[in-house]
Amino acid sequence: MTADRSSTGFPSKFPTQAQVVIIGGGVIGCSVAYHLTKLGWNDVLLLERKQLTSGTTWHAAGLIVTPGSSEVGVELSTYTRELFKNLEAETGQSTGFNPIGYLQLACTPDWLVERRRMAVASRNLGVNVEEVSVSEVKKMWPLAETSDIIAGFYVQDDGRANPVDATMALAKGARMAGGTILEDTEVIGINKENGRVTGVLTDRGEIEAEIVVNCAGMWARELGALAGVNIPLQAAEHYYLITEPIEGVSPDLPIIEDFGRYSYFREEVGGLLIGFFEPVSAPWGMNGIPKDFTFGEIKPDWERMTPYIEIAMERVPITKNAGIHKFFCGPESFTPDGGPMVGEAPELQNFYVAAGLNSLGILQGGGIGKVLAQWIVDGIAPIDVSEIDISRALPFQGNQKFLTDRTVETLGLQYQLIYPNTQFETARNVRKTAIHDHLAKAGAFFVEGMGWEIPDWYAPAGIEPKVEYSWGRQNWFDYLAAEHKACREDVILMDVTSMSKFLVQGRDAEIVLNNICANDVAVPVGKIVYTQWLNERGTMEADLTVTRLAEDKYFIVSAGDFYTHDLYWLNKHIPADAHATVTDVTSGYTLINIQGPKSREFLSRLTSADLSNESFPYMSAKEIDFQYARPLALRVTYEGELGWELHVPTEFSVHVYEALVETGQDYGLKHAGFQALNTLRIEKAYREYAHDMDNTHTPLDAGLGHFVKFDKPRGFIGRDALLRRKDKGLPKQRMIQFLLQDPEPLLYGSEVIYRDGKVVGYLQTGGYGFTLGGAVGMGFVKNEDGVSSDFIYSGEYVIDIAGERYPTKASLRPMYDPHNERVRS
Ligand SMILES: Cc1cc2nc3c(=O)[nH]c(=O)nc-3n(C[C@H](O)[C@H](O)[C@H](O)COP(=O)(O)OP(=O)(O)OC[C@H]3O[C@@H](n4cnc5c(N)ncnc54)[C@H](O)[C@@H]3O)c2cc1C
Repeated sequence: MTADRSSTGFPSKFPTQAQVVIIGGGVIGCSVAYHLTKLGWNDVLLLERKQLTSGTTWHAAGLIVTPGSSEVGVELSTYTRELFKNLEAETGQSTGFNPIGYLQLACTPDWLVERRRMAVASRNLGVNVEEVSVSEVKKMWPLAETSDIIAGFYVQDDGRANPVDATMALAKGARMAGGTILEDTEVIGINKENGRVTGVLTDRGEIEAEIVVNCAGMWARELGALAGVNIPLQAAEHYYLITEPIEGVSPDLPIIEDFGRYSYFREEVGGLLIGFFEPVSAPWGMNGIPKDFTFGEIKPDWERMTPYIEIAMERVPITKNAGIHKFFCGPESFTPDGGPMVGEAPELQNFYVAAGLNSLGILQGGGIGKVLAQWIVDGIAPIDVSEIDISRALPFQGNQKFLTDRTVETLGLQYQLIYPNTQFETARNVRKTAIHDHLAKAGAFFVEGMGWEIPDWYAPAGIEPKVEYSWGRQNWFDYLAAEHKACREDVILMDVTSMSKFLVQGRDAEIVLNNICANDVAVPVGKIVYTQWLNERGTMEADLTVTRLAEDKYFIVSAGDFYTHDLYWLNKHIPADAHATVTDVTSGYTLINIQGPKSREFLSRLTSADLSNESFPYMSAKEIDFQYARPLALRVTYEGELGWELHVPTEFSVHVYEALVETGQDYGLKHAGFQALNTLRIEKAYREYAHDMDNTHTPLDAGLGHFVKFDKPRGFIGRDALLRRKDKGLPKQRMIQFLLQDPEPLLYGSEVIYRDGKVVGYLQTGGYGFTLGGAVGMGFVKNEDGVSSDFIYSGEYVIDIAGERYPTKASLRPMYDPHNERVRS
């Protein structure tokens, strides 16, 4: 950096250059600065528009509560808690962390199941959650009304921090390690060249930078837009009130979270702070965040909030008469799926983002800063980032109407009982396939994914497709069973248009793709290649199929969730001088999937193409005549049966669909949804990227080593790292398929796996194996000495579901059709 720096870390001259510029001095920006300097990157300059903490951070309630079912969430939170415990010793600045304990209440049988499941998962992730009785709850919290409580869940080590102090401690730590912080400096422009960020323009001058990090909280979206970067987040009103002092309220009362009453309680200067996560909330600042909003408050909407205040106060009845000292409303940013937006912006190289914290910025702030700093330094994410990576954001999610409508629902998610398959109810019907209305008539129950209305399952004629949520078999379980059976015995039709589809074309398409893909795509025209894309560490970035359509033309199909990520990865790895282009053709095709043992006979009635094994073998593709259309047909399956994916040019799809349904009557054709796709693929142990395996796993861990072609002449990204891992011998973790021996219980993922009484992992995914006759799950089994097949098959396994343990069979190979006979039939 070219500026002189005073001993306090504040520059005496305005700097014109820094290796990293961080925008925003809230908890997130300060944490990124602190962690970058910890990694030895001290040419770091943090710019704050006004004063540190003056955005959202200053008024947070500071709850540091760690349990959860997501490994990433727990990792971010527990790291932050430990950091806040120790920062004072390092910096001399207290974070105000006080481990007063944390108590969650379960007041209905379904909440009890949910909390027990969460407790099992949390304990496995190192959070010491204890189930406590109602009388213990009463002992800890004598002022609480306990008559409706079934159980409490207590974490002794959790507590509260002071958000301003914690942020100041991070800032101090960053300065002590050589970082620089500049207040009263507003970034008003982002400079870029050839798709790469080159610096920022501030209201005090220009600063060159190799890397820019946008930590501007609720301003981050507008700031991103200046650089053409999509950061879907929206501010919303967020409330707490503070009562006058109450007798019997002491500073060491544990925090209570009462999900059923959308509220939490903690002590505040002798009174109680009652915070709210109301199920229907109010977005704020839709016309832009006011420029002068500094240490700001929003005028509270008493009328909207009064019913929630009344319900909450019933938990601690004395609060009704205590008098309200302060009713506070401040803005916080929320994202369309409730996860933060972190990582390199897909649209602009070296421009990183950490924003949209969904009311968890203090709790996860330490962890987010650590993860992003490591990501910046290494260029590769250090943990599973499926839930937080900004490259999951879709362009339409930056639409203001979408954000306004969706944000009504996202604040309340934090306290909502999330049953398996819980759906967003807001901002629906955003993307519909060309045959959507036909599927609705056929009884589809739609769920939302990436804005698409996706058929999940089908109700029989005369029955309304509606979900009754529960932890057991939901009302559509038998319909799902019938769809699953139809695929195994007859034939099904599935609309999977939401898959992402890209064309890679040009003279260098083969060379470029062979560098990106771990499998070999230098194959004859018409061949489909299943492959992973790896990063330089040899862990996975994508899992998809690549079909060669011509010498210079490839067709890529991947899951809809990775649309932005896969495009980003492709573009990032096509050299500037290569003759290869990427075109998104997702909307160009309706993808109708026909699967099942009768699919050949059935489809042959509608096409003149020869669908025999000789002419159309497994993993091959052809454009075929199909009624009046010429869809691209891929003989491929994710269900584990004989079948074809028909990529039908969109405007032809209705007549193709109608012909399929009409002729299908003769073959018992059944519509099937994504629930069936899931149960079918789990039986066959087909992996799902970002659910079963993620960016921290190698193909070897995931049992996909046979799809890696180490000996390709020019190698591929990640080859050397993967070879090094391979040479080390047996992987320390391996993906295993499990089948519960008792047909009754259900698996949803995150259940803990025991081998001979010892925890060896947890399930990444679960579903019901209707053909195998019980719930099936997949998860990584870990062993420091390596996971051999001997290790797998010599153990006795049980799986813990909400505290009950169930014997289970484990297998390295798919339990359904292990030799691929049906697939190749
Ligand atoms: C009522 C309430 C209670 C909460 N309670 C909790 C809790 O108990 N636990 C918890 O974990 N979280 C809580 N939160 C959420 C938490 O406060 C936020 O997630 C967190 O503060 C977000 O931090 P940030 O750094 O992303 O944003 P901010 O704190 O808003 O920081 C962004 C900074 O960027 C600056 N900036 C913006 N634009 C520019 C620019 N162009 N140039 C330079 N600087 C710029 C702003 O001035 C601001 O200081 C609560 C939030 C609210 C509203």
